[in-house]
Amino acid sequence: MSESDSAELRRVEEAPATPPARPKTLRPRLPVVRKPPALVPARMINEVLYCERLMYLEWVQGEWSDNAFTVDGQSVHRRVNESGKPLREPPADPSEEAPPYVARSVWLSSERLGITAKIDLVEVEGGSVVPVEYKRGACPDVPSGAYLPELAQVCAQVLLLREHGYTCDNGEIYYAKERRRVPITIDDWLIRSTLGAVERSRRLVLEGVLPPPLVDSPKCNGCSLVGICLPDETHALVERSPPAERESEDPSLEVGDDPWGLAPPAEQPVRRLFPARDDKLPVYVQAQGASLRLDGERIVIHSKDQPSQEVRLSNTSHVAVYGNVHVTTPAIRKLLERGIPLLFNSYGGWFVGQAVGHDSKNVELRLAQYGGTQDRVRCLQLARTFVASKILNCRTLLRRNHESPSPVALSELKQLARKARGAESLEALLGIEGTAARRYYSEFSGMLKGGAALEFDLDGRNRRPPRDPVNALLSFCYSLLTKELTLAIRAVGLDPLLGFYHQPHFGRPSLSLDLMEEFRPILADSTVIGALNNGVIRSDDFIAAAGSVALTPPARKRLILAFERRMDQLVTHPVFDYRISYRRVLEVQARLLSRVLLGELPRYPEFRVR
Ligand code: SF4
Repeated sequence: MSESDSAELRRVEEAPATPPARPKTLRPRLPVVRKPPALVPARMINEVLYCERLMYLEWVQGEWSDNAFTVDGQSVHRRVNESGKPLREPPADPSEEAPPYVARSVWLSSERLGITAKIDLVEVEGGSVVPVEYKRGACPDVPSGAYLPELAQVCAQVLLLREHGYTCDNGEIYYAKERRRVPITIDDWLIRSTLGAVERSRRLVLEGVLPPPLVDSPKCNGCSLVGICLPDETHALVERSPPAERESEDPSLEVGDDPWGLAPPAEQPVRRLFPARDDKLPVYVQAQGASLRLDGERIVIHSKDQPSQEVRLSNTSHVAVYGNVHVTTPAIRKLLERGIPLLFNSYGGWFVGQAVGHDSKNVELRLAQYGGTQDRVRCLQLARTFVASKILNCRTLLRRNHESPSPVALSELKQLARKARGAESLEALLGIEGTAARRYYSEFSGMLKGGAALEFDLDGRNRRPPRDPVNALLSFCYSLLTKELTLAIRAVGLDPLLGFYHQPHFGRPSLSLDLMEEFRPILADSTVIGALNNGVIRSDDFIAAAGSVALTPPARKRLILAFERRMDQLVTHPVFDYRISYRRVLEVQARLLSRVLLGELPRYPEFRVR
């Protein structure tokens, strides 16, 4: 290695792999049984040097998410792994002449080194071998030919080959974008850095604490886990939290009027590092007797009254079926393989359950959730936030949409929100929420224009079954919202059945109902108000029978479309000040709740509209 190469490597090594000192956060060691991992994968050696949090999220918490870079990388690796010979044993006599050959997907491990690796390609010529690591991008403009994480990954492969008796002097990286191979020199410094990274990975696993995110790092731009990690959001919330909470190891029940409030944007703006909205769309099937079957990469929907329709799997976020809809086994299996949830609802719209692929691997998070639900202090702290935020969002909806909002009602709701923040028990909180709901629904008809208002039962909310058209609409939209929250919660790795405010109850998605509180007015109620005021739903769209009122199928379709438009609408996040769709908001809020449970954030940040 030339002197300039060594200097470059040292510069890379000296660059901080871990972020600067940060405020202390609530970061308990989680009660997961830990023992030092016997073998550290070479890929994790790469990642721990790139970002310790990335390594921990992927390896310890089992998180994964694809972006354009990872998908491209997978296709490069698929091509290289397609065919090839296995690696033969090293020759007993190194001078023995044998025809050269290439081995692919070579898996080697060494307990002495504590490393395991799947090597893309090993070229064998004469008595020596060269491992080749495939990378999707272009060669970086550095004298060493690669950054430290990639150098260490190749070094780990070289060490493994040597450990298994092969003569291996150096490795190579093939950059697919430029179709260029770059030799990687293995010197003592690189070996020390690589073995140091192995040791660091083992220590992080044993410590059991999610490392903090990088600070304002360009590395986060290309990181596929950025939507899971939420680096800028986490820093912003920790920095804006009151110092007492930041320093405390024990979340206090003391609450102010508005702990996060609609905090002004931080001096350092929060970057939105993930897409504002998801390009995939949900599929709703409510025609009774319809059937869904698989056709290659598409789902075909047959129903007797309409021509067949096809949807691409790659464009589908989830499939929701209502009532008597048949789904073939191959279609179910393909949906599960692709991670597309299949949601079953009753004909009337009640969310019954779902079929999903493998559950999240994040055991730490689930243990934290189970522990949290047993902790009355934690339950009350979260429940207060959910309820206070809901009451304030109801108040905002009234302020925005009521023809002449009652100052008394607005003032009462504000006071009830304040009371909710200081409620001394879950039972007291239930009472406050009930009073606020009665006050809010007593004003609800004032948000409806003309004849729509006359249809609403002035006694307020009724359900199971709904007895008037507006309550039928509200019930249906709450059910759609429950489904959305359940999907978001599952995607994050939480258990939707275990809540903090809504106590566990057979089959009830209590956590979905918890998180849903603050979104009821802004997503469900506003959809209903818009649908009625804009004439999307009219008085002849309902069927009344035996004291209950239900929507006709065509009206239900229009209401689902109105709800979907609302979910896809971009909104400015009140805490982070960037614009994302409401559907993304639900995922971000569920993710932030998971960070509260893991002890990284001191408090759940409310989603409050202005
Ligand atoms: S988003 Fe940034 S901080 Fe988070 S895991 Fe990725 S690189 Fe690390």
